[in-house]
Amino acid sequence: MAVANMGTTMFGSVDNPDVYTDALEKHNAIYKLHIDGAYGGFVYPFSNKESKINFSNPKISSITIDAHKMLQAPYGTGIFVCRKGLIENVLTKEAEYVEGMDLTLCGSRSGANAVAVWMILFTYGAYGWFEKISVLQMRTQFLCDKLDKLNIDYFREPFMNLVTIHAENIPHEIVEKYDLVPQQHNEHNKWYKIVLMDHVEIDHLTTFIDDLKLAINE
Ligand SMILES: *Cc1c(COP(=O)(O)O)cnc(C)c1O
Repeated sequence: MAVANMGTTMFGSVDNPDVYTDALEKHNAIYKLHIDGAYGGFVYPFSNKESKINFSNPKISSITIDAHKMLQAPYGTGIFVCRKGLIENVLTKEAEYVEGMDLTLCGSRSGANAVAVWMILFTYGAYGWFEKISVLQMRTQFLCDKLDKLNIDYFREPFMNLVTIHAENIPHEIVEKYDLVPQQHNEHNKWYKIVLMDHVEIDHLTTFIDDLKLAINE
């Protein structure tokens, strides 16, 4: 079983699933390919219209998407989707006190979480969510353009709403003031990330850039 990523947590990097399946097929391996879209699953398919990281690719067996990340649902709303016939592989016979197939909302699993996700999705609607993601893409580009002007190195996966900046470019007082998220919470840290979400508005970005410019010039 191989896992390809659709948006890593620190960089938002997106794998090309063909790299995995080509290698596996070259060696005649029997395989399943899982897509980890925990972070990017509610972003990338909406921002990249050309994306083929979905079930239209017959080589993809399963996908996870976390509603408790970008969708801002309550914690514990990870979603697992797989092709027909595969879910039986995770069916346990241990929980015999639960009647029927112990696969989805049986036993004491929270149905409220499922309802919350359903409500969020239907409140936005597919187009509403697309609009929201489009705005976040524009804000991400705005930040990248400003960083380019300051000659500050960063990584940004195209179509993702995440900018990961080399730590050496960011003075300590800026890290403190803006509570930037490090890759490692120790002295070896090399990166800080900014996730462009609803509450990260252009005003905040402008203030951040102005402060950064000042701090660098000092
Ligand atoms: C958050 C995350 C996960 C899993 O996290 P849960 O919150 O436990 O579902 C897996 N992969 C990536 C890339 C993530 O960002």
